Amino acid sequence: MKKLILFIVATLTLVACSKQPRLEDECLYSKSKTQFCFWSPVAEQMELRIYGDSETPEAQTFALKKDKYNFWHQTVKGDLAGKFYTIRSRQNGEWAEEAPGIFAKAVSVNGTRAAIIDMSRTNPDGWTDDKRPAMTDPTDIVVYETHLRDFTMSVNSGIQNKGKFIALTENGTKTPEGLSSGIDHLKELGITHLQILPMFDYGSIDETTLVLGNYNWGYDPINYNVPEGGYSVDPYDPAQRIYEAKQMIQALHQAGIRVVMDVVYNHTYNVAGCALGRVVPEYFYRLNADGSYANGSGCGNETASDHEMMRRFMVESVCYWAREYHVDGFRFDLMGIHDQETMRQIRLALDQIDPTILTYGEGWAAMSPAYPYEELAMKQFTYKMPRVGAFSDDIRNALIGSPFDHLRGFASGNPQGRQALCFGIAGGINYDEKEFGEGWSGEPMQHVSYITCHDNYCLRDRIEVSAPEETEATRIRMNKLAQTAVLVSQGMTFIYGGEELYRTKRGIDNSYQSPDSINIIPWENKQLYNDLYEYYRQMIQIRRQHKGFRLGTAELVNRHLDFLPTEQESLVAFRLKELEGIDSAKSLIVVLNGSAEPAETNIPMGEYVVLAQDGKANAEGLTTVSTMQLTVAPYSATILAEK
Ligand code: CA
Repeated sequence: MKKLILFIVATLTLVACSKQPRLEDECLYSKSKTQFCFWSPVAEQMELRIYGDSETPEAQTFALKKDKYNFWHQTVKGDLAGKFYTIRSRQNGEWAEEAPGIFAKAVSVNGTRAAIIDMSRTNPDGWTDDKRPAMTDPTDIVVYETHLRDFTMSVNSGIQNKGKFIALTENGTKTPEGLSSGIDHLKELGITHLQILPMFDYGSIDETTLVLGNYNWGYDPINYNVPEGGYSVDPYDPAQRIYEAKQMIQALHQAGIRVVMDVVYNHTYNVAGCALGRVVPEYFYRLNADGSYANGSGCGNETASDHEMMRRFMVESVCYWAREYHVDGFRFDLMGIHDQETMRQIRLALDQIDPTILTYGEGWAAMSPAYPYEELAMKQFTYKMPRVGAFSDDIRNALIGSPFDHLRGFASGNPQGRQALCFGIAGGINYDEKEFGEGWSGEPMQHVSYITCHDNYCLRDRIEVSAPEETEATRIRMNKLAQTAVLVSQGMTFIYGGEELYRTKRGIDNSYQSPDSINIIPWENKQLYNDLYEYYRQMIQIRRQHKGFRLGTAELVNRHLDFLPTEQESLVAFRLKELEGIDSAKSLIVVLNGSAEPAETNIPMGEYVVLAQDGKANAEGLTTVSTMQLTVAPYSATILAEK
């Protein structure tokens, strides 16, 4: 009996001790004490420093004690709310520079010290009742990508808190012409998800000189688990930015819009100045054979998601944003640098919170990552990462041309990419391998259909540089045609914010640090180019009203999608057939004419509602026809719904 009790006690002790801390638990605050823990397998000694404020050099120093998992612990008694901390570690006899922990959740201005705050006090009113807007199928999604400054800084935005998180909480904002702007505009446009360029704490903007109005996209992470101070009305108050980021998400949810965060785990701002590099140098990054930092990101370093604790860091970080901030999706920058297993684990972990949380990313790297290619989360291996999507450069290049040249695409008169366009329309699946090549997505939701994003030219500029001799009226026709093809394709759709307002970046194809004057969305264009705006809005409605354009599974796409024969290379025609029980239409017909001439084509005889033709679109129908022959106007799409 005694032996048995001893055995039970020993087992229980083992269970109790075998619980490895989470990286997320580096600072657990309560009124009576704060518990700290930090991971480092290489430190010989570690120190915690507690500061009274964000500036003072005077610190109280505490030694940290290592457990068997290489986590270093200390508990400090008393109410530490309002104080700041850093850690420093000694390796090979030398003390590294101090840094916030890698999982700091609140920080000082510019993120140099971590802040100790009571997170429960950062919640806006009604936060516990905040709900993710309803969503059934990822292919129902229309993502709208924007940067907080692009969307709000224009004098014509009608928004008060320009460039701030809370700009997106302002209802009733209007352009000078009285048209809705800001969050109301997004509601009116009908998008389902807002993807925001980096909103975690990044390094390229000095938060102490915000009045200068400097601009940066923000792909240079400092503290991954803290909102960026530059988007707060007070970056000096560590709780304020957290409160405001939550307010923004709450307001978007109330508007029926989900929020996607652009996450950049593939590299850090630099190595020496970043917590990941200061605390455990070399572990979190991949190295070349000669010991130098590998650089698959083109930004000077690449992280090592294949290392256990980097992988755990990423998994815990996305889960933290999903739980604490109610973020609804993640867009992974240069996802091709991460390994596939990490992406699968991220998917599994998010499923435990809510399986409708989205995951997709760029299935490529900037340069060659220092890891076996076939293990990386590259686009062609998307099918090995269920429910993780990748941007389709196939449909993008087919429609408007590749970013590596200035050639036209299908929508602007170059039919060269016709096959890739059809491949994209089918959602990148195994559809007709002989004709279109092998699919890389397992299911259509894994194929992110898009033509433009923050990178490269915006659509207006792209068409201008590739077709400069055309009139503006013709270029607008090409613009509508290209976006139409995206919105009738079976993947998950994505629009770069401001394309609906005919934005231009004046020929600048990499505006990451261009001034606001280049990057702002021109709200006055809502009136000036209202015809284009209305077309986009109607096309989004047409997609949302017709399930035939978003069947959702590879099996259904194979069963219902037929490409129709056409005589011209510059014509793509397809039919979504036998839609009874799926769509309000019996069938849907789409003909895309990418040439300067009107084109004729045969379609199955039927009575149709015309949803779009000759640069006009209306989800309720423009007119009706009973025909088996169509004439499609130059550079335009005809869309029919069979009655
Ligand atoms: Ca910052």
